[in-house]
Amino acid sequence: EARDFAGIPSTPIEVAVEVVPDWWQRGSLRLLLAAAGILCVVAFAQWRNRSLRTAKRTLESQVAERTRALNEANARLVAYSYQDALTGLANRRRLHEALEATWQDPAARKLPSALVFVDVDDFKAYNDRHGHPAGDVALRSVAAALVACAPPGALVARYGGEEFACLLAGAALADAVLIAERMRAQVAAQAVAVPGTADFTSLTISVGVASRMLSGNVQVHALLRDADAALYVAKREGRNCVRSTPA
Ligand code: GH3
Ligand code: MG
Ligand code: MG
Repeated sequence: EARDFAGIPSTPIEVAVEVVPDWWQRGSLRLLLAAAGILCVVAFAQWRNRSLRTAKRTLESQVAERTRALNEANARLVAYSYQDALTGLANRRRLHEALEATWQDPAARKLPSALVFVDVDDFKAYNDRHGHPAGDVALRSVAAALVACAPPGALVARYGGEEFACLLAGAALADAVLIAERMRAQVAAQAVAVPGTADFTSLTISVGVASRMLSGNVQVHALLRDADAALYVAKREGRNCVRSTPA
């Protein structure tokens, strides 16, 4: 609207004014931006998903690797817990479990089982003469001789100190005595190096043998007692010999 000099209003005229929106105010751009936003969100979600899946796979393979290492360490620990550190033979725990397994096995309990009990003769004097490291070498050589003479399937164990045992499941007394005699002869025949010197020496073992039908722990204890008693007879009767119960 306008007025002239006298203040008389003119007739209003209409002037079309087009307000052009700024570029960022355009609907198409907003649509485009919204689409781009959605695309970004989708892309981010996909990227996050992928990285999470990769992290999960890495974690799973790490867990699998750790589990495998743990299982291996456990198996090693179990093996160590059944092994004598000095000789590498089975230890007393392993022997007792083998005895128990024997009487629990329906096939094995139908046959007698024999136990060969070994004690190194005058071993204190051996240690005193040659020293403890030499004694250790000698114990290893006795262990090797026992293993060499034991039949397949026999369990040779270090019972403790200078005492060894060999479980012969399914063996009658006469067969076990033959094996024990072979062990005694082998130990007596072999030359044992004295570490730190050029010398070789030898030692002997006394052996007690017993055989029994095993049907429970009572018979297992009786078998151990019989073999031990036979070993004492061998000691009493001059050492370096095999005795059995019943004689
Ligand atoms: P016997 O003929 O009556 O069996 O006499 P011995 O001297 O063999 O028996 P004793 O029980 O008096 O001595 C056993 C010796 O075995 C004493 C101990 O120092 C020794 N000994 C036990 N274990 C080990 C070992 O791991 N290494 C060494 N070097 N010696 C051991
Ligand atoms: Mg002894
Ligand atoms: Mg001894």
